[in-house]
Amino acid sequence: MKDTAKKNTEMILALDLDGVITESPEFFSAWSHSWPGPVMVITFRSNRQKAIDDLQDRNIRYDELILVDRFDAKAEVIASKNIAIYVDDQPEMLKNVAPPVHVMLFRNEGNFDFDDRRWMLSQDTGKLMF
Ligand SMILES: [Mg+2]
Repeated sequence: MKDTAKKNTEMILALDLDGVITESPEFFSAWSHSWPGPVMVITFRSNRQKAIDDLQDRNIRYDELILVDRFDAKAEVIASKNIAIYVDDQPEMLKNVAPPVHVMLFRNEGNFDFDDRRWMLSQDTGKLMF
């Protein structure tokens, strides 16, 4: 049985599934197993069993799997769960995540043009500085 009080003081790592775990499963498997605190997976999916199967197939250690049905819901879940760090591949999912939560944008073909070597952003998620 988990020590809930102890877990609440530990740093929670949260990961997106599609475009993050699916993009580099060996890395996220190793990271999830070596992370000292709880691991959550937050995914924009509707099929829970398929998500569970995909996590099992990729040998991901996780304590909680949360399915959301809209973009804004991820930031709300992250705020309510006291998550320390969140990794997603979509800036739309990260832009409403407020400090002190740390975020990482995971690069893939959906958010980066490898031929052009530039990030692909929208007016809502990017601001050119130069
Ligand atoms: Mg994703």
